Amino acid sequence: MVEEIRRWGLTGSMGKPVCKSQLARLLRNPIYYGVFKFNNEMYEGSHPPLISKKLFDSVQAVLDNRHRNHKKTEIKYGFTGLMRCEYCGCAITAEKQKGHIYYRCTKKKGPCLSKKFLREEALLSQVNEAIKKVYIDDPTKDKMINRFDELFQEESKASSSLSQGIKNRISEFNAKLERLVYIFIDRQITQEEYTKRKAKLLNDKKDLEGKLKEIEKSGSGRLEPAKQFVTTCNRTGSVTWQEILSPKKIFLKFAARTSS
Ligand SMILES: [Zn+2]
Repeated sequence: MVEEIRRWGLTGSMGKPVCKSQLARLLRNPIYYGVFKFNNEMYEGSHPPLISKKLFDSVQAVLDNRHRNHKKTEIKYGFTGLMRCEYCGCAITAEKQKGHIYYRCTKKKGPCLSKKFLREEALLSQVNEAIKKVYIDDPTKDKMINRFDELFQEESKASSSLSQGIKNRISEFNAKLERLVYIFIDRQITQEEYTKRKAKLLNDKKDLEGKLKEIEKSGSGRLEPAKQFVTTCNRTGSVTWQEILSPKKIFLKFAARTSS
């Protein structure tokens, strides 16, 4: 990420290049989902959040786990990371020799019965066969998309009542926050208790606001992946005959994500 940031020409506030530790701090900073800490107290910013709290939380989870899941960086060839060995389940790696790319089992679990290697050309024809199996033609695609749109209409009615419910809960949180200030002014709770409760309320509110945004943005977001999937399956028709790898790879990744 640091490399990418430098490539974009972004700098720190003093005009110096961004370093790793700055990026690490940035990724831990809650200001991007709308709250900030000052004197140990949590405040809600008046700025529109750049990211949702949900995204922030998943980034934190990745950061917390990054030591455990540290992987050796390998050169990424077209289809590595998408396949496992049929015989032993190990990852498949690739290497370039004499201008050709060869795929083979990493054999990390010990001896393996697989053939030594597979040339990318041979792999491609297997991939093409697999992709052809899920091809959806134009009329079928249109029929399915239309049905999804009908479902979308039905569900958007339901989701509008759902979002109203969340809006109500958000205003409850606002009222609670306001009440908390009065309780604190009346000295019914300690400073410590106040900051603790405020942080909790603000975070819960941000979770709800994120949910609301998701509902409002996608309307019926549940159908979006299905639509995307149908469109992708339809597009594979043209993808299969092309020599370019990237559309095939995108499709395989998409299929892997959807099926998991
Ligand atoms: Zn193997």
